[in-house]
Amino acid sequence: MNTFEDIIKVCKLLYEKGFIFATDGNVSVKYGENIIITPKGMRKEMLFVDDLVIIDKNGNVIEGKHEPSSEIFMHLWVYEKREDVGAIIHAHPPYSTAFSFVMPREYTPQLAETRDLVGKIAFVPYREPGSKELALEVKEKVVNSIALVLHKHGVLVGGKDLWDAFSRLERLEFEMQVRMLRRVFQ
Ligand code: 13P
Ligand code: ZN
Repeated sequence: MNTFEDIIKVCKLLYEKGFIFATDGNVSVKYGENIIITPKGMRKEMLFVDDLVIIDKNGNVIEGKHEPSSEIFMHLWVYEKREDVGAIIHAHPPYSTAFSFVMPREYTPQLAETRDLVGKIAFVPYREPGSKELALEVKEKVVNSIALVLHKHGVLVGGKDLWDAFSRLERLEFEMQVRMLRRVFQ
């Protein structure tokens, strides 16, 4: 699969796994000097390759028939801060999003698999979705954590490639799901 098709596949999986709803979420991948990103305000599981937008490092559109994601700066500034990141997923998975209401400044995963793959999870205070203020908070926190929980909003994860980022997202959401469900047995 090439990069474009990987994005389409991941967008479908995000929806099928219940990590995004309606037009939520966005995905990007480094593409040489440029970045491929999902379009703004569209249902991500319905995207075709030619709906994707290619932007440069300053956010100028190089190719594409749609506007790029409203979270463009969140993506651009993560790439700016983290040379090791080749792909980013922003999603609204229910368990992690619910945890965002009560999360401390930093959370150490309880499951070994999450600890190994995701590491410490950072908390990002609430800022308007799509704002530069949110992107600035993310930029600051992503220096020390590759997985961030956004207060009353969702999550952002990075990876060396898209599948690395997707596995991190799965691990993060599983951790939060187990964290909640285990209370049933107490
Ligand atoms: P976009 O459709 O503009 O990428 O926005 C979705 C989203 O989740 C905003 O936070
Ligand atoms: Zn969002």
